[in-house]
Amino acid sequence: MVSIPMCAACGAWGAGPLCESCRQSLQLAPERITPAGVLARAAFRHEGTARLLVHELKYRAAVRNATLLANPMAALVPGEARVLVPLPRSVLRRVRYGVDPAVELAHSVGRIVGLPVIHAFAASVWWPSHAGTGHRATVRFTPIRTVPDGALLVDDVVTTGLTIDSAVQSITGHVVGALLATASAKIGSARDRHSDDH
Ligand SMILES: [Zn+2]
Repeated sequence: MVSIPMCAACGAWGAGPLCESCRQSLQLAPERITPAGVLARAAFRHEGTARLLVHELKYRAAVRNATLLANPMAALVPGEARVLVPLPRSVLRRVRYGVDPAVELAHSVGRIVGLPVIHAFAASVWWPSHAGTGHRATVRFTPIRTVPDGALLVDDVVTTGLTIDSAVQSITGHVVGALLATASAKIGSARDRHSDDH
């Protein structure tokens, strides 16, 4: 990665990739179990600097942030993981924002830990949401290829865990867990309403 002389979060010069203040605001996230019992490990809580890095990755195609977030994520990859499986963003959002954050994160983590990335699901044109309630309808993933046992799902943010659970139902191989950049503590809050969109 090319060294950037400014902080990726606050833009302070001479302090890349993250300045001391932004680095110190990163808070480790506790492990989480989804409603269906999948172990979800996120590098950071979805707050402050970490939330900003994810947001810029998702909505401003700041792909370098995937590289930044991949290092702490790589440390959370379980030993039994054999392949990384990103949960695709909807086609409309990928086109609109020019990036699929989970795919970027999966490839960045894969380069560090030496695991292949398998694109196991078709990206939907769009994922439905319940307008006005802040709750999304459950995303349904369409498998497009078989996945061996030892799959580790990769996404940017875990909020309710229902997206992860839906992917587990659609995958062929045994899933060893889910790996996220951040975990939102305030489930269903307006602030995070768009955080786990696809
Ligand atoms: Zn900073």
